[in-house]
Amino acid sequence: MHDDNFSDLTIEWESPSTWVPAIGNWVGDRLKSGGLERLTRKPRKQLYVDDAEWVDRVGRASVPGLEDLLDELSDDLAAARAVVFHGSRVDDPGRFSREGLKVNDPAALDDHVRELIRSEPELAAVYPDADALLASFPKRERDAGLLHVVLDSRSLTGGGAGHYLIYGSEWVQVILGWVAHPVLRKRGYPTLVRAVLNLDRSSDGERRDLARHLLLEWARLTATRDVWVQDIDFTFTLAEALPSGAVLGHTHPATIEDPFHGVRRRTKSRRCPACDP
Ligand SMILES: [Zn+2]
Repeated sequence: MHDDNFSDLTIEWESPSTWVPAIGNWVGDRLKSGGLERLTRKPRKQLYVDDAEWVDRVGRASVPGLEDLLDELSDDLAAARAVVFHGSRVDDPGRFSREGLKVNDPAALDDHVRELIRSEPELAAVYPDADALLASFPKRERDAGLLHVVLDSRSLTGGGAGHYLIYGSEWVQVILGWVAHPVLRKRGYPTLVRAVLNLDRSSDGERRDLARHLLLEWARLTATRDVWVQDIDFTFTLAEALPSGAVLGHTHPATIEDPFHGVRRRTKSRRCPACDP
């Protein structure tokens, strides 16, 4: 039995100093004799940054087998927290610190679509009857009651998921289609919300995936002595809101990659009325 306790641990993936020492101590307690020396050696062959061999090396150097190690780490991580990000484009970024991060609510999204069509002549010209448009939407319940947050903010500004910051709610994007892109792009502020997630609120499967990412990256950093952390595309899908007390703040990133149009877009205004002074 180990009495490790991650209750003081808050993982900020992009800041390895927040989690690498804790994972190192945890793994260290489970290594075979000489295990650390083996893991600090560079592998003979060049490995990709996300090569599964990095995790396999940890499994071979530890007393428990890799699967047991992952089970145990994912259980222990339930005591820890992670800093997570949510990307959206909204007229009022201050609402996140007032109201928290809400789950997807089709009724509220209906109202938002009606308001967009009412206030944007370009949209009203294409969709004269908002109610008919909403009634014809076959994916109305997609994501209902769910909230998506990610571990690595870079996946929302680069990579393939910049559309949340540039265009806002995916639900609204899907119903209004590409014709709405110019309108959605000029309204409001691209907003990256930073919040803290108690990991016991994530699913066992997500925590196990997280355990694998942490072990892999710890092993890679230990062997290569790199100081940069690889970009990962890691989403927590929560079936509940995050309250306002969990919201740490927000920013408006300078540039965001637009996966629909293959360009990097510069944010016009990086300050909103709700930005910290
Ligand atoms: Zn702001």
